[in-house]
Amino acid sequence: MNEPTTSAGDFIADTVRADNENGTYSGRVQTRFPPEPNGYLHIGHAKAITADFGIAEQFSGTCNLRFDDTNPDTEETEYVESIIDDIEWLGFHPNQVFYASDYFESLYDWAEVLITKGLAYVDDQDQETIQLQRGGFGKPGVESPYRDRTAEENMELFRAMRAGEFADGAKVLRAKIDMQSENMQLRDPVMYRIRRGFHHRTGDTWVIYPTYDWAHGQSDALEGVTHSMCTLEFVTNRPLYDWYLNHLDLPYEKPQQLEFARLELTHTVTSKRKLRQLIDDGVVDGWDDPRMPTLQGLRRRGYPASAIRNFCAHIGINKTNSRHSLEELESFVRTELNRSSQRRMAVLRPLKLVIDNWPTEDGRTIEEVRDAGDQSPGITTWFEIANNPENADDGMRRVPFTGELWIESDDFAEVPPPKFFRLSVGREVRLRGAFLVTATEVVTDDQGEVVEVRATYDPASEGGNAPDGRKVKSTMHWVSATHGLDAEVRLYERLFSALVPGETTGDPLDDLTKNSVEVLAAKVEPALASGDDGVDPGQVVQFERIGYFAADPSHPMLFHRTVGLRDEWASLQKRS
Ligand code: ATP
Ligand code: MG
Repeated sequence: MNEPTTSAGDFIADTVRADNENGTYSGRVQTRFPPEPNGYLHIGHAKAITADFGIAEQFSGTCNLRFDDTNPDTEETEYVESIIDDIEWLGFHPNQVFYASDYFESLYDWAEVLITKGLAYVDDQDQETIQLQRGGFGKPGVESPYRDRTAEENMELFRAMRAGEFADGAKVLRAKIDMQSENMQLRDPVMYRIRRGFHHRTGDTWVIYPTYDWAHGQSDALEGVTHSMCTLEFVTNRPLYDWYLNHLDLPYEKPQQLEFARLELTHTVTSKRKLRQLIDDGVVDGWDDPRMPTLQGLRRRGYPASAIRNFCAHIGINKTNSRHSLEELESFVRTELNRSSQRRMAVLRPLKLVIDNWPTEDGRTIEEVRDAGDQSPGITTWFEIANNPENADDGMRRVPFTGELWIESDDFAEVPPPKFFRLSVGREVRLRGAFLVTATEVVTDDQGEVVEVRATYDPASEGGNAPDGRKVKSTMHWVSATHGLDAEVRLYERLFSALVPGETTGDPLDDLTKNSVEVLAAKVEPALASGDDGVDPGQVVQFERIGYFAADPSHPMLFHRTVGLRDEWASLQKRS
């Protein structure tokens, strides 16, 4: 495993360095990654994880995982488990695992402190009224008629809220800040709502739940977090984050919130709500569908964790929102896979190639056997072929060759178009690592479709080169028809055809690609068998000349195309 990569030199690192130099936090650095367990992690989260764990690692600090589980309606243990698993897979190890729900009692106590100080009150109005009274930019807020309740009255009501004496939504607890603040977040934000729902950890214990803003900073403070990183949309929440902490007695130095840009990718959505909709609408098979930008999906697709980490380190922790090219991420995937993956031969759209002059067991050629009304694929020869030309340590493997082979139907043209140098009648090509062959004629079916290509081979060209050194323009991959195995191969297109899904209509689902998966019945060499002598579940290999493919983690003989071979990122950059 590669070690997690950190990106040094970003603005958050500068802040931490300055804090260390000034002795703030006594040199302590503690961060946290705070997902809400209401869905699976996606590529955007990978950036936050890399930032949170990376900064801690860079300054010899610690990073904890904290589940921000304050909403019983949407959170589930299934999500908790997948998040823990995904973070480990990415290569990061939380120092400790915490839950905001562990702090419900402490948060409650702190709410009473604010009530006692006259800084929080119980409001009997409904959500809608409260929302209307908040006003907006240049639109004054309206104070609630319940704003001036005494601390005693508020305390009594708040305890009754906790005791379950009121219906859901009947009352809320609000911070008493400033209904005329320029910052809407400070216009008496809601701290608690009444909600009867079964919480994945606290069950029915609570009927009041803290809001994000009330839970978040206080959880940071209780854990001793020093640098609390989040995404830019929380900039306006920072004064509120500070306001709460400034009015409480904290067990550690006050944490500080630092914001960085979200990661967005072209052709991709990273909203959990939208991703869930893709599943609900049956567009994809689940959170781990290889087309999904979830870590589970990318993993099943064959993305190496190290490639995702390197990509995140490369884009860095920045302060302006931007959308990165999916091709850029793919380029990191390709670089990693080129180094690490073994080469294999697989024919995705098989066409039969028969070598007429290939010998059979009894000394006759295939053609002679066929002329006598019989069938034979001929003798088997084994070629030693390098597993990975990029890495000699990967060794060699033996690949069987016979007189009946599968070749890629795209590699043959009955009438070759200009610049087509692959196989056609009268043309000689190299079969990778084996022999030079020349096509002699085609066999067609009733519709005129080519069903078989007949050829002859040059026995002197063993290994793929003629002794006279004559030039052959094309090298093609092949699979012995006798030994080839059946495999299902799935080719994926971008889930969204638009660069920015939803840009024109507002709904990303309007920009879905029509057919984002193509399923092929392929023929693959025996070394691609599932199991000990073949490929492991989840292993990624390069199908020569085609691309990188991941063996499905649970279904044998099923391969997902991870990425093609061509570096589209390089050509995109050349064009711009
Ligand atoms: P969603 O909108 O998809 O539900 P979220 O921000 O609500 O995402 P959380 O589980 O609350 O998801 O996020 C956990 C952490 O990951 C937060 O600190 C959040 O800022 C960060 N995060 C989420 N999405 C991205 C993204 N696209 N890029 C960078 N960080 C992200
Ligand atoms: Mg959220």
